[in-house]
Amino acid sequence: MSNFIFVLDTNKKPLTPCKPSMARKLLTAGKAAIFRRFPFTIILKKAVTATVKSIALKLDPGSKTTGIALLQGEKVIFGAELTHRGQAIKASLESRRSLRRGRRNRHTRYRQARFFNRTRKKGWLAPSLQHRVETTLTWVDKLRRLAPIGLIVQELVRFDLQQLENPEISGIEYQQGELQGYEVRQYLLDKWNRKCAYCNTENLPLQVEHIHPKAKGGSNRISNLCLACEKCNLKKGTQNIEQFLAKKPDILKHIIAQAKRPLKDAAAVNSTRWALGVAELEYE
Ligand SMILES: [Zn+2]
Repeated sequence: MSNFIFVLDTNKKPLTPCKPSMARKLLTAGKAAIFRRFPFTIILKKAVTATVKSIALKLDPGSKTTGIALLQGEKVIFGAELTHRGQAIKASLESRRSLRRGRRNRHTRYRQARFFNRTRKKGWLAPSLQHRVETTLTWVDKLRRLAPIGLIVQELVRFDLQQLENPEISGIEYQQGELQGYEVRQYLLDKWNRKCAYCNTENLPLQVEHIHPKAKGGSNRISNLCLACEKCNLKKGTQNIEQFLAKKPDILKHIIAQAKRPLKDAAAVNSTRWALGVAELEYE
């Protein structure tokens, strides 16, 4: 699918986006001019009385990118992906920190460490996350000026990160019952792409499965959990994963790597979703 072209009327009011072929016709006929190249937008030379169909903007915040889609009913007419600079920002802050630390240690006049008496405002986000929220909002704003957007939709999923990252924090380990809880399930569904980790089957009810079996002392930590279909779950029983997947070394390797995936990604998704949720309310 190629993206539709944004169309503005002569007073810069956004009209319904059109197909590239239509835009080409208008341009060659001299009825429109190029307004901007990215995203490609044309501006009509005359005022028109067109009925404008309302468009929905959908956001899908991910850990490394945020997907933006414009929908006309069910049909996607424009899609873009923002790549976040999270890691780059983190790296440059870290280099600044070490530079300052070095300066404090050199034999120059005494500089007091200041990081202990700094406070953070309510709603503070790490700079890399703040950046992510800002770029996303910039794009939402930009698109609202180019297309008749009547609705902004965004998936809001929150993980209980403190509990997830450190299940012992409350003094008790997660019990099987709590593991069926919505947030953990949701997190595992995201983490394992809604598939059985062992046979890759989709669209089947999935069960929470202990990679290192509970019967053999496996913990309830998230890093020891994956999702499995009933068949695989039964087949594995209380076998060790190495035993169960002895003939499938590739799958074994993948599951072990995936299980250890850090939760930072999930954290990033969460705060963007939260911050965008707030921003969304402010639009009303
Ligand atoms: Zn399976």
